[in-house]
Amino acid sequence: AHLARIDAVDEKVHAFLHIDREGALAQARAVDAKREAGEKLGPLAGVPLALKDIFTTKDMPTTVGSKILEGWVPPYDATLTQKLRAADVVILGKTNMDEFAMGSSTENSAYGPTGNPWDLTRIPGGSGGGSSAALASYEAPLAIGTDTGGSIRQPAAVTGTVGVKPTYGGVSRYGMVAFSSSLDQGGPCARTVLDAALLHEAIAGHDPLDSTSIDAPVPPVVEAARNGSVQGMRVGVVKQFRGEGYQAGVLQRFDESVELLKSLGATVVELDCPSFDLALSAYYLIAPSECSSNLARFDAMRYGLRVGDDGTKSAEEVTALTREAGFGDEVKRRIILGTYALSSGYYDAYYGSAQKVRTLITQDFEKAFEQVDVIVSPTTPTTAFPIGERADDPMAMYLADLCTIPTNLAGNSAMSLPCGLAPEDGLPVGLQIIAPAMKDDRLYKVGSAVE
Ligand code: GLN
Repeated sequence: AHLARIDAVDEKVHAFLHIDREGALAQARAVDAKREAGEKLGPLAGVPLALKDIFTTKDMPTTVGSKILEGWVPPYDATLTQKLRAADVVILGKTNMDEFAMGSSTENSAYGPTGNPWDLTRIPGGSGGGSSAALASYEAPLAIGTDTGGSIRQPAAVTGTVGVKPTYGGVSRYGMVAFSSSLDQGGPCARTVLDAALLHEAIAGHDPLDSTSIDAPVPPVVEAARNGSVQGMRVGVVKQFRGEGYQAGVLQRFDESVELLKSLGATVVELDCPSFDLALSAYYLIAPSECSSNLARFDAMRYGLRVGDDGTKSAEEVTALTREAGFGDEVKRRIILGTYALSSGYYDAYYGSAQKVRTLITQDFEKAFEQVDVIVSPTTPTTAFPIGERADDPMAMYLADLCTIPTNLAGNSAMSLPCGLAPEDGLPVGLQIIAPAMKDDRLYKVGSAVE
C-alpha cells in the first residue's frame, strides 16, 4: 500500500531519492514467513520506514544529497540500519535531504528540492525534508532523520509531524555520514508521539563502534508515551525564544499550548537564558569548523565521484577538480568558513570563542533545569516559507534554526510536535519540548499529554 502511495504522489512531493521496491517487498515477505513459522518477530515487524540518505545501507546507494557520492553503495550497514533490520522494519527507500545535512529547506539537495505536502510550493524544512514530507504525505508511517542544528525538529514543525532529537550519544552515529560530529544526532520521525517512542526505543542504545555513544540504559520512552501527563510538572518558558522575527500565528499557537499545559496541571516558570542569543553565531563557527575537517575525506580517491583522472593530472589536481564539481555552493561556503575559523591566528578569536559560548549555553540550561523539568518554545519562528524565498540569502535561511540550535550545542534532548495551524496561512506550527540529557522520556510524557 505504501509503495502504491509513493507511486501516486512522489513524483510531485519528491520525498525519496531511492525507492527499494524489490527490497521492501522481500523484507515484508520475510516478516510474513517468520510469522507463519511461529518465529519471534521484531518490535516493529512489517512497519514501513523512510530512511534519510545519510545512513549507510549495503543494499542501497547512500548519496547524502550530494553529487560527490552519486552512485556510491556502501560496503556496510550503519548501526542504526542494522537495528532497524533487527526490529523487522521494512525499509522503503532513502529520503531527500540538503547536501551533507547543511540547510533548512532541502533546497540544497543536489537532486532537486522536496515539496511540503501541505503546499507543494513551500519548503518541507531541512535538512531532513524528505523524511518529514514522506510522513506528511502518508508515503511512510515512520522515518529517520538527523539533527545537527534542527534538521529533525524543524522539518517536523513545518510539516505537522513529530520529530525527536535524542540526547547526544543516545543513538549511534556509526555509519551516519558525519557533518559536525559533536552535534550530529540521529533520531525518530513519525506522525504520533507514541509511534516516535516505539521507533526511538528500537534505534537507541550503546554502541561500542561509536566512541561518543552513552553506555547507559535507554530512557523509558515508550512507557512515558503511554502515560502522558504534566500534572505537577514545572515547565519553563525562555524569554529569549520570542520577539522580532517570530510570526504572530506561531506565537499565538505557542501561547495556547502554554495555557493548555497549565490547565493540565503544570506550573509555568519564566526563564532568562541570556547566552541563547549567541547560539546561532557559535553554531555557525563550530559546525562549519567540524565540517571542514570531516569533509576532507572526499578526496576523489576513496569514494564516489572522480573528475579529471585522464592520466595527465596530479592527484592534487584530481582532488581539486572533483571537489569543485562534486560539492554544492552551501557545502563549499561551510568548508571555507570552517577552514578560516580553524586557521592559525584566527583559531582563538573564532573557534575558541564559539566553544566558550557553547559552555555558557550549557550552563544556562543547567541553571534552567534546576528550576524546571522541561522547557517549551515554538520549534521555528515561522511556518513553511515558499521554495526559493531564502535560497540566495544564507543568513535568512540560518534563522530557521533559532530555537533548535541551543539544544544541539548543549547535547540535551528535544521534540517537536504539532500544536495547530497558524491562522494567517493555515500551515502547521510546531511546539518544541526540551529535556535534560538522558531524560528523553520527559519529552514523551509531556508530548503525549498535549498531543
Ligand atoms: N539548518 C542547520 C544547518 O544548516 C541545521 C542542519 C542540521 O541539523 N543538519 O546547519
